[in-house]
Amino acid sequence: MFTCFHCGHSSSSPITYPCSNCGANLNHLNGQSFSNFQRNKWNEHTDLIQGYQQVQLYDKNWNCSFDTTGTSKINDIVKFTINYGQKLSLQSNRGNHVNEAYLSFIPEIIGQGTSSQYTTLSTVTCSGCCIISPQSINYGHPFPVLIDWVKQTWSSESSQCYKCGKKTHVGLQICGECYQKIGNWEKLL
Ligand SMILES: [Zn+2]
Ligand SMILES: [Zn+2]
Repeated sequence: MFTCFHCGHSSSSPITYPCSNCGANLNHLNGQSFSNFQRNKWNEHTDLIQGYQQVQLYDKNWNCSFDTTGTSKINDIVKFTINYGQKLSLQSNRGNHVNEAYLSFIPEIIGQGTSSQYTTLSTVTCSGCCIISPQSINYGHPFPVLIDWVKQTWSSESSQCYKCGKKTHVGLQICGECYQKIGNWEKLL
């Protein structure tokens, strides 16, 4: 079952937006309409393609940027994550808020990231996408995350394959075997 992130309307096939029930769309998540906050975040998470050699940490312990693949597929990544993503709660940076987040692995390299915890500041490739608070029209924005960060953040969580029901790692909504049978995650949209 798939449910609209906004009204909870459900369907046996992935929800297409705008939602046929409530009209909610994904424009605030895919780069088509932005608040200033979202534009700043978008720039932070696409700084690789703006000519920097490294992903900047911006005083954070972890950071990730979409690469050109991630940026060119952002519509599908957002649609996939909002439909198949695992709903999790996420503490805000300052620790004073708990936000709802959708986490979904995209089985393809969509970005690069780095961490102050790594001994070298070189970047590592990133699969996956996290969407924070899609309910928030002004503050919701998509960003790529590193698997190490996911493991640290949700160490006790797990998930289940949509297709075969097998237990999987957190955020992995389609297991490796099922992905192999399907061949291409974009076919699931
Ligand atoms: Zn809806
Ligand atoms: Zn499976």
